[in-house]
Amino acid sequence: MTLSRVCVFCGSSVGARADYLEVARALGAELAARGIGLVYGGARVGLMGALADACRAAGGEVVGVIPGALVEAEVAHTGLDDLRVVGSMHERKALMSELADGFVALPGGFGTLDELCEALTWSQLGLHVPPKPCALLDVGGFFRPLVELFDAAAEEGFLRPEHRGLVLVVDTPAGALDALAAWTPPPPTRKWVDGPG
Ligand code: AMP
Repeated sequence: MTLSRVCVFCGSSVGARADYLEVARALGAELAARGIGLVYGGARVGLMGALADACRAAGGEVVGVIPGALVEAEVAHTGLDDLRVVGSMHERKALMSELADGFVALPGGFGTLDELCEALTWSQLGLHVPPKPCALLDVGGFFRPLVELFDAAAEEGFLRPEHRGLVLVVDTPAGALDALAAWTPPPPTRKWVDGPG
C-alpha cells in the first residue's frame, strides 16, 4: 500500500534508556527520507517531541493532534506548521486515525498502549476505512511481554489467530515502514471466538 502519512504512538516521557530516544529520532528521519508525513499527539515532551523534531529537521511534514487541555498544560509543540487542537482524547485518536494510512507504536506508557489497542480494535472490527496496518517497533525487547500477552489471548481463545496477526512486530524504523507498506488486510471475519461449549 502507498503510505502518505503514518501515525506514531509513543511515550510522553523519554524512557530510561538512550535507545528509546535514538530510535524515536531515527523513525522521524526515516519518515522524512521516504516522503511520508508524520501524524502524532502534538506534544513537545518525551519521545513524542524527539520524534517530531527529528522528522522536521530532516524536512518531513509533521501534523500534531492535541486536546486543548494538554495545550493549556503547556506540553504542545509550538514549532509545528500544523497543530490541530481538538476537544478531547477521544477526538484526538479519531482524527489521528483519519489522517494516517497506518500506525507505528514506539515504547510508551498507558497513553501509548491505549492508542495502540484502540487502533488494533478498530482493525479487528473493520472500522478503519480503508483498512490500516499497525506495527510495534520493539526497541530492546520492550514489547516482548505485550506480544506474549497477545499470544496468550489467542491461545486462550480470546483473540482469533488472524486478529493476532494484525500486530506486525519489527525492530527497526525502516522495518516498520516496510512492514506497513507490504501489508495486505486479512479477509473480514467476525470478531468473537466460540468457546468449548
Ligand atoms: P504515554 O505513553 O502514557 O506517555 O502517553 C503518550 C501517548 O498518549 C502519546 O502517543 C499521546 O498521543 C498520548 N498522551 C497521553 N498523555 C499525554 C500527555 N500528557 N502529553 C502528550 N500526549 C499524551
